[in-house]
Amino acid sequence: MARKEHWTCPYCNRDCTLGDEDIKFCEDKAYLAEDHGYAKANFKILICPSPECRKISIKAHYFTSANYDGRYKKVYEWQLIPEANAKPFPDYIPQQLRDDYFEACLIKEKSAKASATLSRRCLQGIIRDFWGIKEKNLFNEIAALEDKVDATTWEAIDSVRKVGNIGAHMEKDVNIIIDVEPEEAELLIWLIETLFEEWYIERHTREEKMKKISQIAKQKAEAKAAAKDSDS
Ligand SMILES: [Zn+2]
Repeated sequence: MARKEHWTCPYCNRDCTLGDEDIKFCEDKAYLAEDHGYAKANFKILICPSPECRKISIKAHYFTSANYDGRYKKVYEWQLIPEANAKPFPDYIPQQLRDDYFEACLIKEKSAKASATLSRRCLQGIIRDFWGIKEKNLFNEIAALEDKVDATTWEAIDSVRKVGNIGAHMEKDVNIIIDVEPEEAELLIWLIETLFEEWYIERHTREEKMKKISQIAKQKAEAKAAAKDSDS
């Protein structure tokens, strides 16, 4: 049966459906030892189907089983290329924020708390830069957002700040390292991606559209004036 997999390319950020021709496996099995059974390892190689991109992403997996052809259980998984599962964001988003986000993604698998620390700093940076809000801690800064952002965005941000250890330590300085669960680190990254899109990208797209409208209006006015001149 033909394989179909929904996927977002980490390089060009395009949503695509991958077929057999885009997904390749390099795989091998081996007997380890009596007390370790068998091992299977593979590289899963994805090729972006977009003609302008065509870049390659690679993940490695390691499985073990008691029998050579038995049920293999996944023990490890590594994102190899690109190194971090980070989305590409445009350079009109401040470099410092994009760096923190990228590093939060890069370290996520190895240390949820290091990742969450970078994410909290990034979140604070976003609120300070985009809204010009500066309070004594992230907790107060998020509170100050309530009457500025739409209700759905506010609810999303507010719910993340209440999650587990993120919530329990929200009033602490963003540079203090706190223990978090991997899902909490993941949730913070997802929130940052959403805010980059909802705030920075939306604002940029709107500004570009408005500029275009002004430009067209100006051109029309000039054409009209020129036509009037030639009439007289
Ligand atoms: Zn791509």
